[in-house]
Amino acid sequence: MEIILSENEIQTRVRQVGAEIGQRFADARLSVVGVTVGGIVFLVDLIRSIDLSIRVGLIHAKSYHGTRPGELSVDDSTLPAEIVTDRDVLLVDDIFDTGVTLKRTTEHLLERGARSVATAVLLRREKNDDCRAVHPDFVAFDIPDRFVVGYGLDYNDRYRNLPYIGVLPASEYETE
Ligand code: 5GP
Ligand code: MG
Repeated sequence: MEIILSENEIQTRVRQVGAEIGQRFADARLSVVGVTVGGIVFLVDLIRSIDLSIRVGLIHAKSYHGTRPGELSVDDSTLPAEIVTDRDVLLVDDIFDTGVTLKRTTEHLLERGARSVATAVLLRREKNDDCRAVHPDFVAFDIPDRFVVGYGLDYNDRYRNLPYIGVLPASEYETE
């Protein structure tokens, strides 16, 4: 495995981002909502660095199959109204790629009555020709355009528990 971001680098930066979020939302009614499954590791570290009274919830989104993006499905049935309605929601995801996941989950939360929706991601994939209409409000790291795993990110449901972000050796990919 080629390590792109070490456990130490991630922990240090996540604490910084948590502190920034704490300042930005000092006067808000903040709910931090993680996008499962990939966003949960970032979520649990991040919320412990936010020194505010917050609520926490989860929304499910899935689009990747192996290393390939597919159609996105969003399920917010596990997200109670008291986490969303009239709250300032911060959506937390693992990686910002095309932006479709955050756009669609943001729309869901606004439809559910969120007062505002902001977004935070651990990673943003750098694009040569960046035509993404929107960008996250908080980005921990910009990374090169490669498929990464670890710290919540999977390849076919494996590697999420790695404490670092890495690129798999070619031999680890199953024939797709
Ligand atoms: P977007 O909707 O912004 O195109 O893609 C974001 C979602 O795609 C992320 O929540 C993540 O689940 C998945 N994804 C995008 N790039 C990668 C990657 O390099 N590795 C993994 N494991 N998932 C990715
Ligand atoms: Mg995801």
